[in-house]
Amino acid sequence: MLLLAVVLFWLALRLRQRSGLPWASVVADDTGGTMLERPLFAPRYRLTGKPDYLLERRGQLVPVEVKPGRRANEPYESDLMQLAAYCLLVEEAMGRTPPYGLLRYAEASFRLDYTPAVRGHLVALLEEMQELLDADDCARSHNQARRCAGCGFYAVCDERVDE
Ligand code: SF4
Repeated sequence: MLLLAVVLFWLALRLRQRSGLPWASVVADDTGGTMLERPLFAPRYRLTGKPDYLLERRGQLVPVEVKPGRRANEPYESDLMQLAAYCLLVEEAMGRTPPYGLLRYAEASFRLDYTPAVRGHLVALLEEMQELLDADDCARSHNQARRCAGCGFYAVCDERVDE
């Protein structure tokens, strides 16, 4: 029994090491474990969502976004903004400002410090998106017929590109 316990502990250590995530309590996870009761909501920014994991480290909450199929040496800007959005959601909905968020790809982890500059950039982006959503019409931002062919609005879109 003791040997089994040691083996299991060693396996757990290896798994944790491979995940690239720090040792911390998991407050919530969106992968079938301890779930948040409902998605986080920030009415001020009309923003909602749930991070894959929410860790508690040294008394601070840290959202984690996991993209197991993505392999890259640098984080994608869109993934960083998604992570920043989770930081903002935790701040607004739970009243606790995360110091940073973590992004995990298949083989690498990245840390996004949640600074006032990052927050400001995100808020400006959200405002821009909201203006586009509120606009009566919106110009196409690409020239890709294949993208339109797979779009749910194809049949009713005046801007669609045909192959
Ligand atoms: S069909 Fe219209 S909404 Fe859909 S991708 Fe093309 S331009 Fe965009």
